Parts: sequence; structure tokens; C-alpha cells
Amino acid sequence: MINIIEDKCDYCGACVTVCPVDCIELDNNSIDIDHIECIDCNLCAYICPIEVLKIEN
Ligand code: SF4
Ligand code: SF4
Repeated sequence: MINIIEDKCDYCGACVTVCPVDCIELDNNSIDIDHIECIDCNLCAYICPIEVLKIEN
């Protein structure tokens, strides 16, 4: 499962552009992942420039 350290996210949107199932919801100052839709591909964690997306088992 992928989790966000939300208070460290700068809402750059990079993760949204790579998510193949479009399950990351980003607003001006909030971000959320739909864990039901997420397929755990981890692309968002690899693309995040400040490493605030963490892969957890
Ligand atoms: S790529 Fe990282 S910093 Fe950018 S919006 Fe996604 S979680 Fe936040
Ligand atoms: S792990 Fe993959 S499917 Fe899940 S939110 Fe990240 S990019 Fe999207």
C-alpha cells in the first residue's frame, strides 16, 4: 500500500500525471489516494521529487 506524508507534499502534481488508474486526487492544498482503485504499481513513489510517497506492506 502507498501512503503520503501529506504535510510534506508540495502538491507539484507529478504523481498524478503518472498514475495509470487516475486514483490520486489533488487539490490546491490536499492530496488523497483512492486505495480501492490503486493497483500498487508504485510509479507515484518513484516519480515524487521529494519522496513523500512511501510504500508500505
Ligand atoms: S509527486 Fe510528491 S510532492 Fe508532488 S504532488 Fe505527488 S506526493 Fe506531492
Ligand atoms: S501506486 Fe500506482 S496506482 Fe497507486 S496511486 Fe501510485 S501510481 Fe496510482
